[in-house]
This record gives sequence, C-alpha cells and structure tokens, in this order.
Amino acid sequence: MIIVLKPHTAPAAIEDVKKHIVELGYEPRVIQGVERTVIAAVGDELSHQSLEQLKGMSCIENVVPIQKRYKLASREFHPKDSVVSVRGHKIGGGHFQVIAGPCSMESYEQFRQSTADLVGCGVKIIRGMAYKPRTSPYDFQGLGEKALEILAAVKKEFNVAVVTEILAPSQVEPLADLSDMLQIGARNSQNYHLLEVVAKAGKPVLLKRGLAMYVDEWLSAAEYLLVNGCPGVILCERGIRTFERATRNTLDLGAVAVAKFDSHLPVIVDPSHAAGVAKLVLPLAKAGIAAGADGLIIEAHPNPVNAMSDAAQQIPSAKFGALLDELKPWITLAGRELG
Ligand code: PEP
Ligand code: MN
Repeated sequence: MIIVLKPHTAPAAIEDVKKHIVELGYEPRVIQGVERTVIAAVGDELSHQSLEQLKGMSCIENVVPIQKRYKLASREFHPKDSVVSVRGHKIGGGHFQVIAGPCSMESYEQFRQSTADLVGCGVKIIRGMAYKPRTSPYDFQGLGEKALEILAAVKKEFNVAVVTEILAPSQVEPLADLSDMLQIGARNSQNYHLLEVVAKAGKPVLLKRGLAMYVDEWLSAAEYLLVNGCPGVILCERGIRTFERATRNTLDLGAVAVAKFDSHLPVIVDPSHAAGVAKLVLPLAKAGIAAGADGLIIEAHPNPVNAMSDAAQQIPSAKFGALLDELKPWITLAGRELG
C-alpha cells in the first residue's frame, strides 16, 4: 500500500505513521520528496489488515492499495481458465452450457412439462427454484418446502442436473442434497454469512452479480466462497441498475469481459433478468456469447402468460429448441463447445 502524506508533514508525525504501519504488520519504506513524503508499506495486503484505517490520521492525504482484494479468484494467481463441473457437465475452459428452466417451480405439472421440453432439446442443467426473492413482499415467493418433493420427482424422472437458489442458511440442508449447484441471487451476493454457509455445502455455486456491485466486489464475493471451501464458483452477470428503463436491468457486457480478464472463473450471462421481456432474450444472449461468456441461464416456462413470477421474460419451453438453434452458430464462432 502507498501512504501519501500531506505536504510539509513534520518528522515526528512521519515517525508516528511508520510506527502504526509496523504495528499493522507492514514494513515502511519512506520516499522523501521536496514537498511531500510518500511511504510504501511492504507486506501482503490480503493476509494483513488494510492500512486504509490510517486515513483517519490528520497528516495522511491518501492510502492507495496496490494488491487486489482477491487472490484465489484472480487470473494472476491461476492463469488457466478453471472448469466447473455440475454433475459432470462442464462450464469454462471452452465448455459452454445453456442452463434453463422456469423462474420458479409452481406445480408438479408446470415443472415436469418445462423440464421435459428443455431436456428434449438438449439442456443439461435445469433451474429448479423453490424459494424466490421478490421485490414486493406480496408477490409469489416460490413453493418453498412444498417444492422439494416436486424437485426430487422430476429430477429422478429425467436424471437431470439442477441449480437452485438459496436465500437463507436454513435452506442449505434441505436443498443441497437435491441440487447439483446452488445459486446466490443478486440480492444476496454480499451476504457474507450466507456465502460462508453455502460455500461449505460442497456444491458448486452460481454467484449472481449484485444490482449495484462493482466487478471487484463481485470477485471478492467469489473469493469469499473459495476461501470458505467452495469447490467451484461460476460468475453470472444479470444486469445492473442504471438510469435506463428500456430494459429491466442494463446487461453489463463490459463486466463480462473484465471478469474474464481478471479472473479464471467461468462467467455466464443471464439475459432473462437483464431483458425483462422475452423478445430481448435472444439478442442479449448473443451479445453475452460475443463478450466471452462461458454459458447462459435463461428462463423458460410451459405457458409464460400464466407464470406466477417474471411472466413477461420467460421463453415458451416448447420453443426453446428454436432459440438454442439460433444460438449454436454464435457459440461455435466464439470457440466454445456446447455441453
Ligand atoms: C433468479 O435467477 O431466479 C433471480 C431471482 O435472479 P436475480 O437474483 O439475478 O434477480
Ligand atoms: Mn425470475
């Protein structure tokens, strides 16, 4: 870290800053300019407390971190793309998956039908959402525990991999055994206690980017999962909140490219929650592939008009094969292999 002192700081104050730096576990190296003094604090910024707390000292103008706050998630630490396997279905390192399923499980018939349609056109990983985070507390929150039986029955019939969202630590135990990947939704991606509990469940985690999360915060959340023993993390860009209201969220393709440069973790795109309407899902999915995504997660429902959540953005599951056919040349052009 670099500590920039205010002009003409007295030697006694410089000594005081050096003392604090040593106390926090770093070695201070003073660079004396004509007007200003800068101190380089040498030490591992990840394993030591941040020196940013020194900003409170009246002689300090700025404290600039040099190291990134994440290591296990960084490409610097792990240059090769990592490949995450979801019950044998690979994502990353050239392997591409299209994950699909309804916004939420609503009934046995609805979930069975959408799974039959999606598995029928080659989808390997299904969205099986029992709990739904909703903007209004009066909206449908998912079937909750009632969904577990439906999930178990449909999963068994189609022998398919399933991703499910976890909203609270108490949901990990009932859902982890039934699921092949756990999802942390946009509203929980900085809920560190939840990340810790989910990381320890022994399943890969799909980590959505928060609605107003910087890329480095997103990667730090991924780091938190990895530090806590998560066997594989997949990052998911799902659009962020901006001034633009023509789409539900603004799909941040720049963040996809940045995450691919700065991290070795697979990155997928959720065009459904970014678009908010079904007609925009295909163009946003193509854009995600072009930006370097390793996969997509798309909402599909047997009868979107009657869907209990996110009706406008769901693709009719019977038409999913046609959507996949449109995407296949893009996936090939991007040098990825559809799993
Ligand atoms: C979802 O994928 O079901 C979901 C609620 O998405 P997000 O957390 O990105 O809003
Ligand atoms: Mn949804």
